[in-house]
Amino acid sequence: MKNIVVLGGGISGYGSAILAKKKGFGVFLSDAGKIADRYKSKLDEWEVPYEEGGHTEERILAATEVVKSPGIPDTAPIVRRVREAGIPVISEIEFAGRYMGRAKCICITGSNGKTTTTSIIYKILCDAGYNVALGGNIGESFAYSVATGSYDWYVLELSSFQLDGMYRFRAHIGVLMNITPDHLDRYDHCFQNYIDAKMRITQNMTSRDWFIYSGDDAVIREQLPKYDLRMRQLPFMAHSAVASGAGDAFLCDGVFTATAGKASVEIDTAKLQIKGLHNAYNAMAAALAALAAGVEPAQIRRSLYDFAPVEHRLEPVLEKDGVLWINDSKATNVDSVYYALESMTRPVVWIAGGTDKGNDYEPLKAFAREKVHTLVCMGVDNEKLVREFTGVVPEVVSTDSLDAALRACRAAARPGDVVLLSPACASFDLFKNYENRGELFKEWVRANA
Ligand code: ADP
Repeated sequence: MKNIVVLGGGISGYGSAILAKKKGFGVFLSDAGKIADRYKSKLDEWEVPYEEGGHTEERILAATEVVKSPGIPDTAPIVRRVREAGIPVISEIEFAGRYMGRAKCICITGSNGKTTTTSIIYKILCDAGYNVALGGNIGESFAYSVATGSYDWYVLELSSFQLDGMYRFRAHIGVLMNITPDHLDRYDHCFQNYIDAKMRITQNMTSRDWFIYSGDDAVIREQLPKYDLRMRQLPFMAHSAVASGAGDAFLCDGVFTATAGKASVEIDTAKLQIKGLHNAYNAMAAALAALAAGVEPAQIRRSLYDFAPVEHRLEPVLEKDGVLWINDSKATNVDSVYYALESMTRPVVWIAGGTDKGNDYEPLKAFAREKVHTLVCMGVDNEKLVREFTGVVPEVVSTDSLDAALRACRAAARPGDVVLLSPACASFDLFKNYENRGELFKEWVRANA
């Protein structure tokens, strides 16, 4: 009998374990840390054996296949041992993809914009009455949905870590938003390794499938000729002119037309609730994916205009005394802040800082010079940010707590300004995670702004 071992007992792991059980395989789940009570009760309910607080090697090495959760790096000793033993290691998506039957999947990846684009596509398909599940890095785990439901469509947000463990999986509609340096600590500090992971979105696609990608992204354009791509290609762009016989989306004077095959939809970005060039890209990608999935253009237009910003992504919190406070806590890398600053139309008090992931701040300096009058650094170690932006923005303030940072913002902001939390850094020095940072920001603003 096939013997599946699942490494990691988070949302991805418990879903895989339950799917393995449902398929009648031997299954064992192992987590080096603690497993959340809500996942334990699901595992108990499905009678899946598990351990936490360490790995029992003999049991793990008895696996015929290991499903590794995306949070566990390849350098973890247990993963090394499994590979040395010649046991295949796959991701949850690869595993669950084997059992999705005749359903189709739309897979979204990229360095930035995944959650927003995935959420838009999911909304359009739901509004259109499709029988659809949301999964991957967002919503319920894909494996759990496959185990417990019956869907015609899956909309999956894929991180590079999930793509790493995917071999035979095939996206019917693949979306690649952009590729900019991120998570290089998990890719031997080699950008090409990370690029290769992202490009796996195209693997196994056939001439019946659709590949949607940013025609403005120089990295993607440079990679494409290296692959033998047979699927229909739909680039979206605002600056380039990439030819494709299958269709495309092009933004011009605030309006874009998205075309896939014979279907076409025109969208006025001024009518979207999500603002900025990056969100126009997200909307173009989503419109193309929905057209490729066969949704009526009029329905796509309605759903796009109805879509509200996702929490922690350029989320307006409150306007008080003429100052608009915006929570963009999810901006944990330089590229996402680039687009946040790009989209600002009022003078900015900018809060940045946290755990620096080896950032190169150069790309932000032109917008900072043009739009930011005060930079409030919020982190345990602000030295690099202070050094980089002194002389670029008129005022740079260094703080080491949320409260001190927000008091500095309140003092610096004038009527007509925006206070923008868009950190360019991970949150782990002062907060549990980016959600916690965004929530505490919103609480403070509502109580004290
Ligand atoms: P992801 O899931 O890839 O992290 P999100 O949709 O959660 O993407 O957005 C993350 C951050 O990136 C937010 O701060 C958002 O403002 C910014 N962002 C969103 N879409 C894009 C895009 N297409 N290009 C660059 N930055 C983006």
